[in-house]
Amino acid sequence: MLNCRSSTPFICRSCRHRLALPSRRQLNFQSHPPESTYAEHGTRLRWTWLPEGPARTRFAPSPTGHLHLGSIRTALFNYLIAKRTGGQFILRIEDTDDKRTVADATERICRDLRWAGIQWDEGPEVGGPDGPYIQSERLSLYRTATNDLLESGHAYRCFCNEATLKAKAESRLKSGQPTEYDRTCYHISKEQSDDWAAKGRAHVIRLKDTGEMIKGRDLTYGVMVDHRKSNPERTYRDPILLKSNGLPTYHLASVVDDHHMRITHVIRGVEWLISTQTHLALYEAFGWKPPTFAHVGLLLDEKGNKLSKREKTFDLRSIQNEGVLPEALCNFLALMGWKQDGLKDDRDFLPMEKLKELFDLRFTKSNPTISLAKLWYLQPRHAAVRVEAGGAKFEELVQLVMDAAEWEFGPYELLLAGISNTDQLRSRCKWLLKANAKNYTSVTRFVREQAYLFSSRPYISEDGLPAKEVEYKGKVWRIAMESYGITDEDIRKKAVEVLFPKNGSDGFAETVEELKARVESIVDCITCIFENTKKPQVVWPGSERRIASALVYSILRSWIAWGLSGPNLVEAMYELGPEIVRKRIEKVEVRYVPSPGQAVQEVRHRSEAQGKDAVSADASTKIEVID
Ligand SMILES: [Zn+2]
Repeated sequence: MLNCRSSTPFICRSCRHRLALPSRRQLNFQSHPPESTYAEHGTRLRWTWLPEGPARTRFAPSPTGHLHLGSIRTALFNYLIAKRTGGQFILRIEDTDDKRTVADATERICRDLRWAGIQWDEGPEVGGPDGPYIQSERLSLYRTATNDLLESGHAYRCFCNEATLKAKAESRLKSGQPTEYDRTCYHISKEQSDDWAAKGRAHVIRLKDTGEMIKGRDLTYGVMVDHRKSNPERTYRDPILLKSNGLPTYHLASVVDDHHMRITHVIRGVEWLISTQTHLALYEAFGWKPPTFAHVGLLLDEKGNKLSKREKTFDLRSIQNEGVLPEALCNFLALMGWKQDGLKDDRDFLPMEKLKELFDLRFTKSNPTISLAKLWYLQPRHAAVRVEAGGAKFEELVQLVMDAAEWEFGPYELLLAGISNTDQLRSRCKWLLKANAKNYTSVTRFVREQAYLFSSRPYISEDGLPAKEVEYKGKVWRIAMESYGITDEDIRKKAVEVLFPKNGSDGFAETVEELKARVESIVDCITCIFENTKKPQVVWPGSERRIASALVYSILRSWIAWGLSGPNLVEAMYELGPEIVRKRIEKVEVRYVPSPGQAVQEVRHRSEAQGKDAVSADASTKIEVID
């Protein structure tokens, strides 16, 4: 129970209040933080879910391919605790399982972490005082450590070969006995063992399991209990530390490295909780102080399965291809299993700087389900920050949208939307982001939803209908049009007349304000018709202008933007420019016609894979109309 120190006569007001309340924490003692997390605070002790001093944490992946979201989250949690406490975050590559190691995976891990904004203070590529940071370069350290354990009697050599062990385990399994090692070599004398080893007989080195329960506490799951205690037929684990090929097992390497790298806090997946007893036994055998452990629940997909490397949706590469911003991803992952207690307003939107200020060691015991909907909720907010800040981060975002637009529509469609070179594409994407960052979710979805800015093909919805025409049928302005005998053609004629007072696309508004005024004048004209034509069966007293406005804007949006929602319509019209606006209003089919003598150059473009036409053209190419 927490209260003011008994030696101090003064009891502060909040403690006095708390003492009067029934003890809540006593009931939940297992998740009570260990002593070391009590911190001095003025004249009283205050418990906190933060390390006392600067924490040294680590992320220790195996180089077996790309990182998936689960491993990025583990790295992030460790990184944030180090940053929050002014400590160091260490990257260590655990490559001693040479069967699984993939070439250049270390470089990929480094690249992925840097992309996510998780920069390590010590590790590969940056060095540090406790290097090398790649386990295969530290083998002598593990050998020395096991020799120490052999000398101190905490470990012994096992000369059994693998086939014998397997056969023994199988026969014990059949007779219903525990399958653990039967300790055949435990009884070999030290002299005999040394002699055989000197003669080069193959062996592994095993830890002597004392069979005693080692007191351990996990910050998330509480006291670690060794269930063997309740088993009358006590067995000994005697885990292998050094394999016959001289390579260390995960248990040995991680303990030795954590000790030598002075790691204070280990945050890792709950799948390691079961091995923590072994790790604590090793610390005890070495006589070292173990770090504080905090295990976190596994990330599950929406079906409740553990994230697998084969599931591409949660692969980092797929996430990057979706145009996910690293700051949005870190924000999203930080919410997966961290309790974030005490956050009141806007507790979901947490940029990296904020996370570094707030993150602590309170984790949930449950396995969080990963739902990308949350990520798509956070993305636009982070995109808006980039748009507002401008500079390199904004340019990166623009490039993502440009790449997606090129990939989705190809140069031919872009050309028909008035984009004939990279600068024009950049300018349009910049405009779109500034006008509509609030809809930036997945970059593919973003450009598809704004297809009218990048393509001439009306967007076809899933039910096969172009744009959203079906939705307009029941609208009040549609009914008004029918009642007053106004047709689409009338609106079309009026729009062309007002927006293009001269021939062709000349005479188009020179500013957005002017264009807005012209569209409003179309609305005025329709309002006039509504007001002056008395139709007794249709009564909308005083609503004529509102209905006329809905009519004009909706119908223009259905022609120009195919009914897709997005940025302000007038601004979008101004961005598309007179040629395209006119063609869309007049519903003229637009095709690309190369000028005489101009070679149509096939370009190798990603759209080829999608079976689209791919034609490149230079900036001077004109769009022509085919009737
Ligand atoms: Zn043996």
